Amino acid sequence: MSSTIIELNNVAKTYSTAAGEFAALKEVNLKVDSGEFLGVVGKSGAGKSTLLNMINGVDQLTSGEVIVRTNNDSVSVHEMDENARAHWRGRTMGVVYQSFQLLPMLTLIENITLPIDLADNFRPRESKERAMQLLRLVELEEHAYKLPAFISGGQQQRVAIARALANDPPILVADEPTGSLDSVTADHIFEVFEHLVTDQGKTIVMVTHDTGLISRFSRSLTISDGELVSDMDSNTPRFDKTMMRSEAASNQTSSGSCPSSRFCARIHDRTTRPHQTIYQRGGCLYGAQRY
Ligand code: ADP
Repeated sequence: MSSTIIELNNVAKTYSTAAGEFAALKEVNLKVDSGEFLGVVGKSGAGKSTLLNMINGVDQLTSGEVIVRTNNDSVSVHEMDENARAHWRGRTMGVVYQSFQLLPMLTLIENITLPIDLADNFRPRESKERAMQLLRLVELEEHAYKLPAFISGGQQQRVAIARALANDPPILVADEPTGSLDSVTADHIFEVFEHLVTDQGKTIVMVTHDTGLISRFSRSLTISDGELVSDMDSNTPRFDKTMMRSEAASNQTSSGSCPSSRFCARIHDRTTRPHQTIYQRGGCLYGAQRY
């Protein structure tokens, strides 16, 4: 039976910029079950990476809470200090980036043994054996003693995935892992992730701007302007505000009257509050949110 492994309660992130406060994430609520392959899609600047950095604790949240439950261990990520969070992340979450981020002066096998040795989970000889196993998993065993510069981008990303698996974490988070690869190589990388979910039971949260991948995730979220606007299980929506949003945007006028009786009638059906009152207070609704 699947259980909630990641839970976000009212998570918000506001950045202070020269132009003032900027809300990159607005009151996000989310539960991810163990074994899900969750895609987070949305345009550039929508807040996808910010969401990921809240989940892995790389960045501090402004308000709300992120809870991660693994092996009977329940952790409120942002209540830990930086040191404890780094150790926890090393055990719990593998991270894969668009730019691979392998250490260029270390061989492939050394890139993988390094996080194993830092976490102190395995003895030195075991860590090398484990690194070799992981290189075998991503079909790069024969390149083990090369430097990253001597293999292709797709191969480097496979090493980065092997490195993310170094301490056998139950969760992987990946930020645009196929973003700098050609489509065939990107597809191979995607298949590696699919196998990790189906064969090893990993939970994966993957950020991408590629909407073509939506149907391949077990579940996909769409994020827009820091808000979750749709949540789909394969092809079945849990909720979907995207259509209402685009319809509202095309209907909205600056005049004082309701811009779309059809749109507002639908809103009226969906909420207990009369749409006209809300409109008079400064806008239409989508879902239960005024804008
Ligand atoms: P995405 O991953 O969807 O492209 P991000 O999560 O990186 O989007 O960013 C969301 C928004 O937050 C963007 O408008 C971005 O400019 C802004 N942002 C991200 N990081 C910072 C920061 N450190 N300071 C100020 N604004 C930021």
